[in-house]
Amino acid sequence: MKARAKVYYVFAIAVISISSVSAYIYFDASQQKFFAFKVDFHIHTYGSDGIYSPSEVVNIYRNAGYDIIAITDHNIISYYDEAKTAGDAVGMTVIKGEEITEEFVDGTMLHIIALFITEKIDIAFPLKEIILTINSSVTFPDDTWDRREALERLNEIKQQYETEINFYMVKAEFDKIHELGGIGIVAHPNTSWENWKDYVDCSFIDAWEYARVKNSSDEVLCSEINDILKNKIQILSHDFHGKYSYELPHMDYLTEAYTFLYSRSTAELDIKDAILSDRIMTHP
Ligand SMILES: [Zn+2]
Ligand SMILES: [Zn+2]
Repeated sequence: MKARAKVYYVFAIAVISISSVSAYIYFDASQQKFFAFKVDFHIHTYGSDGIYSPSEVVNIYRNAGYDIIAITDHNIISYYDEAKTAGDAVGMTVIKGEEITEEFVDGTMLHIIALFITEKIDIAFPLKEIILTINSSVTFPDDTWDRREALERLNEIKQQYETEINFYMVKAEFDKIHELGGIGIVAHPNTSWENWKDYVDCSFIDAWEYARVKNSSDEVLCSEINDILKNKIQILSHDFHGKYSYELPHMDYLTEAYTFLYSRSTAELDIKDAILSDRIMTHP
């Protein structure tokens, strides 16, 4: 949901304080009460390609006024525990997450944010088996083939079934996330929009990240993407690493752009409900 569409926010009646952060109470049309939580669901630590420890990340976000964050390192979840302990110490909610990091057949990024997962998601994708699932009559080169000829033939098959192989992988990742009770969000769709554009109407995708220029694509493309996704559930996340030029020197961008989530509480079920009910306001 976008700010302009949110008529019922005019019913804001009070400002209260939850721990050290001010949170606004809002009532929706059915008079339900929600708190506004400042959130970021895409953050790296030095457990993958970020530069800060999980505890440092928690403090950086605390100082920037955030209430709920998710630790989403590439293909690893073991740095969550330290962040959770640090979060508990300062009254910040930390969600266990992972940035599932794969590639589409054309080599572009197939990155998916998995939140609330109970274990690491790491699916093997044996090309031959996938293709046979798509078409069981495909014949593959065997040992009797010339090596170069065999590689060329494999590549040919791969190109021929590119769309189907991509779909197989994307669907398998989201199915696994859901099987573990999690929520799956397409990360920075602009980095491989040529592929992601075919998935806009896929119901198994829970949400999309807001397209942002800093992920190496142009402003026109990003606004086109955000326009196409405007009726989908969209979340502005920072893909925090703490090392890139746009993040330095003071990391002001964390306070300049952010997302508010309207949730009953910081309990897992309520956060999930807030995301899936699209009680989200992005401030790009
Ligand atoms: Zn990524
Ligand atoms: Zn990332």
